[in-house]
Amino acid sequence: ADLIEKDGYAPWYDGFENFYVRRLKTRLDDCFARPTHGVPGRYINCFLRQRAPQLKYTYNGESTKCLNLSSYNYLGFAQSHGVCTDYALKTVEKYGTSACSPRSAAGTLDKHKECEQVIADFVGKEDSLIVSQGYGTNASVFALMVDSQCLVLSDSLNHASIRFGIRLSGAVVKPFEHNDMRILEKIIRNEIAQGQPRTHRPWKKIIIAVEGLYSMEGNLVNLPEIVALKDKYKCYLFLDEAHSIGAMGPNGRGVCDFFLVDPKKIDIMMGTFTKSFGATGGYIAADKWIIDRLRISYFNSHFGESVPPAVLGQIISSLSVIKGTMNPGEGQERLQRIAFNSRYLRLGLKRLGFIVYGADDSPVIPLLLYLPAKMPAISRKLYAKKIAVVVVGYPATPITTSRVRLCVSSALTKDDLDYVLEQFSEVGDELFMKYRKDAPRMK
Ligand code: PMP
Repeated sequence: ADLIEKDGYAPWYDGFENFYVRRLKTRLDDCFARPTHGVPGRYINCFLRQRAPQLKYTYNGESTKCLNLSSYNYLGFAQSHGVCTDYALKTVEKYGTSACSPRSAAGTLDKHKECEQVIADFVGKEDSLIVSQGYGTNASVFALMVDSQCLVLSDSLNHASIRFGIRLSGAVVKPFEHNDMRILEKIIRNEIAQGQPRTHRPWKKIIIAVEGLYSMEGNLVNLPEIVALKDKYKCYLFLDEAHSIGAMGPNGRGVCDFFLVDPKKIDIMMGTFTKSFGATGGYIAADKWIIDRLRISYFNSHFGESVPPAVLGQIISSLSVIKGTMNPGEGQERLQRIAFNSRYLRLGLKRLGFIVYGADDSPVIPLLLYLPAKMPAISRKLYAKKIAVVVVGYPATPITTSRVRLCVSSALTKDDLDYVLEQFSEVGDELFMKYRKDAPRMK
């Protein structure tokens, strides 16, 4: 501890945290990592941390039932839900709780095959490959697609898993300003030998890596323009749909559905099941020949456990509900509700005078606090009003743009959202958070 105090950093790891960040983090621990119990659906039961001497935190014995705007439960499938839960339970009854083996050994069940076909059909690609963790999917896929003679153009706000995967591959990476097509085109033009046939390029491959919906900003990718650029300069496109699949588009089929872009234009589609589907794991969807190659070389298929049966049951059944092949009508109702809820809450918050980032249709609503000190304050005040939110700050965002991130869900009703708006208005006045010039003033 003396050494840390003296030198101002922890000598044994200084990549992510230094002494100052740790001090800040200790304070912010107040609002992070709050244990919860029960199903994270419309409500969430969480414990409040109590501050004890020496900045140590304990939990009070009782949990509070809060309205849940903190989970990525976009379509409300995370809560125990008749048809999906029944299907998942039946899958467990038939296949047990785990295959206890990687895919390439004894871990491929017929349900894996079925699940991969259902996903490929849903996203509009020929085939797909499922992996037991979303983070792990991105972390390992780039090493199989690119090497040091390839160039990856990565949006500056890409998720950590994409950045990690690209670094691990050894490819040359050039980040471009978030969603800025002018800069992206400039980099591509600089990087390719203009007018030369494709084989004369200095790069074996150029891949543009973007997300569908950016989870810290609530922004949508500029998909039609990126597709035009990729076609013009013959690059490949990698699209991470972790937050957009299920939640965006009239049929829930992600940003292609939203922007009416043909999914065939996207070379590699990635997504996770942890958000809209209430499950866990990730997928890669692409042309059959790509998936065939990935399947034999994917590290996770050989050295990691396959997706467990209950999860397969949840994925297949929630996708079937969205498509309308199970409980017809329910999927459409959920899709309409998420679209309504997202706009209603976002526009309501803007009207109250808050500064809100992102696209109007995005179910991720980041509300700007700016000062990091306001993070624990708002988290506690909302907790007292029985609303659970996530606050996000440095290092996930620049230190000056700390924010509250609300995740909207189909599980929330209009009355819930009216209550949330009312409470946010009060807290916004107390913490001087209504930064918009046209904000209604306090009475
Ligand atoms: N990609 C993106 C864009 C994400 O936001 C996340 C996590 N939120 C992941 C990948 C990793 O997915 P998972 O949490 O399912 O491991």
